[in-house]
Amino acid sequence: MWQQARLLERRLETESAVTLVFEPEDWPGHLAGQHADIRLTADDGYQAVRSYSLAGPVEEGRVVFTVQRVRGGEVSTYLCDDLPVGAYVEVRGPVGGWFVWRGSDTRPVMLLAGGSGIVPLQAMVRQRRALGSRAPFRLLYSVRTPEDVIYAEEMIRPPRGDDGVDRALLFTRRALVGSRRPPERIGFADVTAHGWPAEFEPACFVCGPNGFVEVAAKLLTALGHDPHRIKTERFG
Ligand SMILES: Cc1cc2nc3c(=O)[nH]c(=O)nc-3n(C[C@H](O)[C@H](O)[C@H](O)COP(=O)(O)OP(=O)(O)OC[C@H]3O[C@@H](n4cnc5c(N)ncnc54)[C@H](O)[C@@H]3O)c2cc1C
Repeated sequence: MWQQARLLERRLETESAVTLVFEPEDWPGHLAGQHADIRLTADDGYQAVRSYSLAGPVEEGRVVFTVQRVRGGEVSTYLCDDLPVGAYVEVRGPVGGWFVWRGSDTRPVMLLAGGSGIVPLQAMVRQRRALGSRAPFRLLYSVRTPEDVIYAEEMIRPPRGDDGVDRALLFTRRALVGSRRPPERIGFADVTAHGWPAEFEPACFVCGPNGFVEVAAKLLTALGHDPHRIKTERFG
């Protein structure tokens, strides 16, 4: 069912990504990795619906999304640039019961994010933190440049200090000064160096644009990860 949600706060994450905090009328709760549909209605009645991942656990009835502006995109540009604080959109959800991490699961987890695909994976990291879970997490985040890192502060300085999540930032266009890894797409060496070996039987979550998901899922299967333990979500 659709319900009204009021925009309470907007935070700039990068030049092209914005975090939006909404207060829906009556949110039923959700699992880390799930998404919601957002519906916009123009004055003339024209409607547009898009899916956005929930970026963290529900807090005080509030839900959080992070939207990356897609050039020429109808909904993302409006949400990133125009929707004023205090305005309402309609939301429906949560949606999806497969691409989820359950806090009771103590197995190793490997997260592979490309670009804005970090959003549902960061939700899993935040859920882990909120629950005080000690499930071993490793996060590989492929992103264009250091300026494009979403949740940069949380990546570098997790809120409660060292949270036991291993994070690797893998730049594709321009790396940090002094970095030994040249800017390039994610490859075998990255997954081998920063991920779990297949023998550890981690639950693998891959999220990002189509091309990234294809490549990352193939890398994982080629490295011996059981395809049944690889879950993917495509933003394309
Ligand atoms: C399950 C799910 C969860 C998602 N979660 C998020 C999220 O957390 N944050 C987020 O920013 N987006 C997320 N998306 C993508 C989002 O739903 C929209 O597709 C995106 O915001 C573009 O919508 P738009 O109306 O701006 O572009 P449109 O007007 O629909 O498209 C404009 C042009 O951009 C291309 N395009 C559309 N989407 C993308 C894309 N993602 N990357 C590159 N080009 C694209 C189209 O082919 C078209 O040519 C998610 C998608 C799915 C399916």
